[in-house]
Order: sequence, then structure tokens, then C-alpha cells
Amino acid sequence: MPFDSGDFDAHERVLFVADRPSGLRAIVAIHDTRLGPAIGGCRARAYASEAEAVADVLRLSRGMTYKAACSGLPFGGGKSVVLLRPGQSLHAGMLRALGGAIEQLRGDYITGEDMGTSSQDMATLREVTRHVMGAPADLGGSGDPSASTAFGCLVGMRAAVRRRFGRETLRGLRVAVQGLGHVGWRLCELLATEGAVLLVADVREDIVRRAEHLFGATAVPSDRIAQCEADVYAPCALGGTLDETSIAQLQAGVVAGAANNQLRTAADADRLAARGILYAPDYVINAGGMVQLGLEHLGRLRELQPRLQGIGDTLEQVFADAERHGTSTAAAADALAQERLAAAGAPRG
Ligand code: NAD
Repeated sequence: MPFDSGDFDAHERVLFVADRPSGLRAIVAIHDTRLGPAIGGCRARAYASEAEAVADVLRLSRGMTYKAACSGLPFGGGKSVVLLRPGQSLHAGMLRALGGAIEQLRGDYITGEDMGTSSQDMATLREVTRHVMGAPADLGGSGDPSASTAFGCLVGMRAAVRRRFGRETLRGLRVAVQGLGHVGWRLCELLATEGAVLLVADVREDIVRRAEHLFGATAVPSDRIAQCEADVYAPCALGGTLDETSIAQLQAGVVAGAANNQLRTAADADRLAARGILYAPDYVINAGGMVQLGLEHLGRLRELQPRLQGIGDTLEQVFADAERHGTSTAAAADALAQERLAAAGAPRG
């Protein structure tokens, strides 16, 4: 089935894992290891179908190859997904079975937390495999990577604002944040400290009220946040919020947020560019969490802050390349990743 999937992109290995005693059904996809072992989190979801799970893991693992290549760290791209049945929750038995499968890959795939998994789950995986990062700090890991993702996003937003508006700080700029979860909330904390004016949306009313109270944020309905009057739009919830319709209505001059797969189609990058909206490519600006987990694996966590600051430098390079070659910033980021991959040799998949 994966060979027929439109998302199959000569992945090196796709492993289907079934463990009857625990009820685990999982897929591990290793997309590309030319630059190093494949790194990428483990997502647990009740997928509508197996085909949907296959498409998700293939797309996400490919995205990790590009993210890792742009980060400049010696890692390739991979991802794993756990297919939950309706009403089924992820439990320790399933995690241990998955950990056993990851261990058999002998370090070719390194996992971490993602949607539907937690740093505590990473601690459970660690009972059976060394190839897992992001367990809680008191259990020897580097913990939830969301804070690093949020900080990298702030650094990237500053770079985009400098380029688009010629301003050195975010003070007084209106930033519309969609999604106040692990990353979005921390990003709001950082933005409020910088003096940005916050407009926020989340489907959870309680968290929106807290943002109003703590950050003086203005609440915007979820279906209006992408179109509200703001200088920067920061999608930090779902992917695919940028399409022909939403881009035509966007008022912000910069799109800089943490969500994965923000563009509905590749053509949306050109639509943003045509409207003069500067897009910080998602997998470059949201690489902070991956950088943290990668540095934990390398035993080089002391480099975390400079490496997160480096996200701004990478974005500046991407913006400059796009201008020089007359392409979208998304195409420039793809070209940067492809150049680094090509320098590492021919694909192995
Ligand atoms: P999360 O699940 O903690 O938060 C998502 C938030 O979005 C939740 O508060 C949810 O209620 C809200 N939300 C859902 N639908 C919404 C809608 N239609 N409108 C407004 N809000 C909505 O997830 P997270 O870890 O904060 O990640 C956010 C995004 O960033 C995801 O796309 C994720 O893939 C991406 N990302 C996260 C990390 C990380 O380190 N956590 C790293 C890279 C990329």
C-alpha cells in the first residue's frame, strides 16, 4: 500500500508493527538517513483509516528530512504513528512493544514526543530502547521540547519582521496567534514579554480567558483569526490553514508560526509571495523542538541556545535566496535542504 501512496517518496524503510497482547498497531517510516539517523516524534491518533495513517507517517517523515537538513544537525527524517482504535488509549504495554520495534532498528530511527504522546510516554519507551529523547529531566531526558519550539519560533518571527518591516523588535506589533497549546501558549508568554500586542484564538474557551487575563490579549473567534487585522499571523494549531481563500483575506504582512504543514498546496507559497506576504517556512521556523532532541542525542545540549538563535540566521538565508532567485520562500527552503542532502550522496531509498 505505501508504494501506491502519493506521499511515498522513495522512503528508505517503512515498518508495520503489530503486537496482539498489547493491541499495538504502529507504523515507523524512515525517509532519509543520508545526513544521519532519522529523527522524528511518535504521534498517537485514532485515524479514520489505515490509508490515512500511512499518508500521515510518510508525509511527516519526509518533512522531518527537510527540517533536519535545514537545521544543520547530522540527522535524517523519520516519524512513527500509533493507530488507536476508537475509544482506545495509549498505554504502557503498547509503548513497550513499540520501543522493542524501535530498538530493533538499532539507532537508525530516534523518536520523541508528538501529538498524542507525552514526555512521560518517552520515559516508558526508554525502559526498552535507548533511541528515544525528551523523557522528563528527572528521568535523564531533556523534557518536553515545546519550549524550544516556541523560542525558535520567536527568533524566526523577529527575523521575518526585520526583513518585512525593517523593525528590530516586536514591541507594539500586532501578532495573531492561532492555538494556545504547548507551543502557542509559550510563544504568547515570550511575545508578551517583548511587548507585542496579542490577538488570540483557541477552541478552548478557558485558555483564551487566561490569555486575556495574563497577557492582555484580545480574543478573536477561531474562524476569524487568520483574517484579523494584524502585522503577523502565527498559526500554532492545525496545518493547512493557508489556502487560496484564506490567503486572499490575510491582512498580516508576515506569516510566522509553529504549525506543521501550514500551506494547503505548494501553490499557496506563490500566492503569499504574490501578495507581498513574507512566509517563514514552517519546517525551518518550528525546528526548535527537533534541535533540542537532536542535541540531547548528541550529548550537546549546552549548544541549545545558540542553535535556536541559528533558526533566525537560516531564515535570513532563505529569505535572501528567495529574493535572489525570484522564488517563494518555501521553494528556497526546499532548495537549501535538497542542496545539503545532495552533498551527502545519492538517495538510499
Ligand atoms: P497542542 O495540541 O498542545 O496545541 C494545539 C492547540 O490548538 C490546542 O490548544 C487546541 O485547542 C488548539 N486548536 C485546535 N483547533 C483549533 C482551531 N481550529 N482554532 C484555534 N485553535 C485550535 O499542540 P502543540 O504541541 O502546541 O503544537 C501546535 C502545532 O505546532 C502543531 O501543528 C504541531 O504539529 C506543531 N509543532 C509542534 C512542536 C512541539 O514542539 N510541540 C514542534 C514542531 C511543530
